[in-house]
Amino acid sequence: MTPPQTYTACLEEKLQHNDRFTQFSFELIKPHRLEFRAGQYVSLKVSKQGERRSYSICSTPDIDHQLDLLVDFLPGGLGVQFFQNLEFGMEIEALAPMGQFIVPENLTVDHLVFVVTGSGIAPFKSIIEDQLRNKQDPRQITLHWGMRRPEDLFWLEQWQELDGAFTNFHFHPVLSQAPTAWTLCRGHVTDCLSIHERPVNAAYFLCGNQTMISDTITLITEQGVNKELIFTEKFY
Ligand SMILES: Cc1cc2nc3c(=O)[nH]c(=O)nc-3n(C[C@H](O)[C@H](O)[C@H](O)COP(=O)(O)OP(=O)(O)OC[C@H]3O[C@@H](n4cnc5c(N)ncnc54)[C@H](O)[C@@H]3O)c2cc1C
Repeated sequence: MTPPQTYTACLEEKLQHNDRFTQFSFELIKPHRLEFRAGQYVSLKVSKQGERRSYSICSTPDIDHQLDLLVDFLPGGLGVQFFQNLEFGMEIEALAPMGQFIVPENLTVDHLVFVVTGSGIAPFKSIIEDQLRNKQDPRQITLHWGMRRPEDLFWLEQWQELDGAFTNFHFHPVLSQAPTAWTLCRGHVTDCLSIHERPVNAAYFLCGNQTMISDTITLITEQGVNKELIFTEKFY
């Protein structure tokens, strides 16, 4: 894997998905190309004192001159304040690429299952698009994405487009505060996993908060999933 180095980039576009999640697109300045694996993240300098926060890259590796990040504004700390104050053309400094939360190339499974809450969707946007569009992965790929309310969900057009274009992709949004009219899964991602038939010979990729990750590991290991087939990225 490419070793991390310091990049400068400037803010080119902002896309506010809803009252909580905003996507930021940066054009790389120096170096102006970034080689990374889908699922990796950047370590961003968020203060003059050099404090840092990590953000997963949600764009795909074939777009190597740009960097898209998805930010959850809820925590409201230094990292979030940094993004709130970013204006078009402003420069950022990031160490990239970081991390090993990728789909290993030698993984001999028939099914990739992605389980996520909140902004943990960022690395999966990159990984799933990369596996399906760029790598033409023929394996079954299932995404279980837990949020609270329907209005918290975003990238729905993109997920639905993938769902239509690739018969091996299955999208399961699950809401913990679902309205009466909601016809899909309700509760937590673990409820969604329990309802659906357990895939045979699958690897699991979990991303989000510590509680979701440990609850999911407990559930799937009790169901017989080998720990070596569980890959995790803890956001907090
Ligand atoms: C490998 C990695 C990748 C990450 N990728 C992303 C990403 O793509 N998008 C993104 O938005 N965040 C991501 N994070 C989390 C991010 O690095 C920051 O922790 C987050 O933005 C909060 O930073 P802050 O300075 O605003 O809040 P802090 O000052 O760090 O925390 C403020 C409060 O919020 C709580 N908190 C911290 N993080 C979260 C969170 N993610 N959700 C809810 N509460 C939280 C803390 O416990 C604390 O009470 C990632 C973290 C890691 C380790």
